[in-house]
Amino acid sequence: MEDFSGVNDIRVELSFDKPIRAFLDLKISPLYDDRANFLGRLIVWRDITPLKNTQTELQEQVIRDPLTGLYNRRYLNEILTRELARATRENYPISLALIDIDDFKHVNDAYGHPAGDSVLQRFAKQLLNQTRVEDTVYRYGGEEFLVLLPNCAGANAMKIVEKWRSSFQRTNISYKIGITGITISCGIAEFPTDGGTGEELIATADQFLYHAKATGKNRVVARANR
Ligand code: GH3
Ligand code: MG
Ligand code: MG
Repeated sequence: MEDFSGVNDIRVELSFDKPIRAFLDLKISPLYDDRANFLGRLIVWRDITPLKNTQTELQEQVIRDPLTGLYNRRYLNEILTRELARATRENYPISLALIDIDDFKHVNDAYGHPAGDSVLQRFAKQLLNQTRVEDTVYRYGGEEFLVLLPNCAGANAMKIVEKWRSSFQRTNISYKIGITGITISCGIAEFPTDGGTGEELIATADQFLYHAKATGKNRVVARANR
């Protein structure tokens, strides 16, 4: 705890973790009489914890997709620049996996839009459970997801995504009735081999994803097996 006993004029924001997480806005002003003699201090403090909590919630909403809770595309752009700079500095590869659920329109048509939403939520949850702490997972578009795997080469990412693909295909999503056999297609681009910028990597992953779709879907495609 800071000591303000000798401070006569200050405005600071204080944060506490114990006994509870709290924030205070503290203002200390000197008081003088009409002959400019120092009389004492006026201390005003305000509990700004609710304000701070609202700010944190709003910041979270800006970077997250409401349906799945995953990061959104806006946040991806921010993180990509940071991650690529770090990978360059520390000299390691990054894999970028662009995933699209196969025949998702059919899921909506056959079971209804809310069932489709459940499939998206379940897939998001599965991705979060199956990734490492350093990986970041994004909802890239409607039924498109993107995963950044720092310090993971393309060949290794192929094996990892292949596991996601086969496990999701076996997943039973219960929404009124059970839905199984949902498949995904994926394109994987590796930094720096397949591109030096985020845009280049996404464009390459998209191209490989397109190839996966064109050659029968339910496939993971990278440069090695294109
Ligand atoms: P492909 O195998 O080629 O990827 O075919 P697809 O049917 O998956 O792709 P298409 O782009 O034709 O259809 C995607 C569908 O995803 C259409 C759109 O209505 C649906 N969709 C997008 N966002 C959401 C959402 O938030 N919830 C639900 N339930 N459906 C969504
Ligand atoms: Mg799509
Ligand atoms: Mg699709």
